[in-house]
Amino acid sequence: MSLTDILSRVREAERVAGRAEGSVTLIAVSKVQPLGRIEAVLDEGHRVFGENYVQEAAGKWPALRERFGKVELHMIGPLQTNKAKLAVELFDAIHTIDRPSLAEKLARLAEARGACPDLFVQVNTGAEPQKAGVLPADADAFVADCRALGLPVRGLMCIPPEGEDSAPHFAMLAGMAERNEIAGLSMGMSADFEAAIALGATHVRVGSAIFGARDYTAR
Ligand SMILES: *Cc1c(COP(=O)(O)O)cnc(C)c1O
Repeated sequence: MSLTDILSRVREAERVAGRAEGSVTLIAVSKVQPLGRIEAVLDEGHRVFGENYVQEAAGKWPALRERFGKVELHMIGPLQTNKAKLAVELFDAIHTIDRPSLAEKLARLAEARGACPDLFVQVNTGAEPQKAGVLPADADAFVADCRALGLPVRGLMCIPPEGEDSAPHFAMLAGMAERNEIAGLSMGMSADFEAAIALGATHVRVGSAIFGARDYTAR
């Protein structure tokens, strides 16, 4: 696969779902990828990327932005409260808001900066004990709490359980977004982004299908 292939599959999935062309943003997930592969995708003109680790992103993106110009960066990994300041300085969007302490911290940082990244609330749709995200039953109240803090809740995000059909999880997230009047839906990865687009995804997060497999041992 390549960036061109994935982009055309995204556009085709939009068309099949009767969605407007360009209504889905392809986030190229570059965590752990060698710099050369990231530069190749930048050279092809792509400018929207996702990262999971604040420190790793801070180590590479300032220099890449110097060289390639404006790049929209999305934080899609769990965010520790003590990394929140660096995260709001680096990222245009954060997809992993999942607890009151983090929401309160982001509200204070946004107030001090006079600006806030676009925020997505992560929902643990499978209620998996080891996974981040608010439980489905708590999502509406948490969204309301974030809004009461003045935070811009632009979307909801989920990572369905491994080995399960993703579609029911995508449908659950879409339902929550609709009843909370939230426009953004961050869902779908390499294996299931077309299903996510059919169910309303506005942001798909695709890593290995664009860049190739991640080699964690090489870090
Ligand atoms: C790594 C990651 C992705 C990309 O996964 P692929 O299967 O490589 O497409 C998407 N979303 C999140 C939250 C991730 O951590």
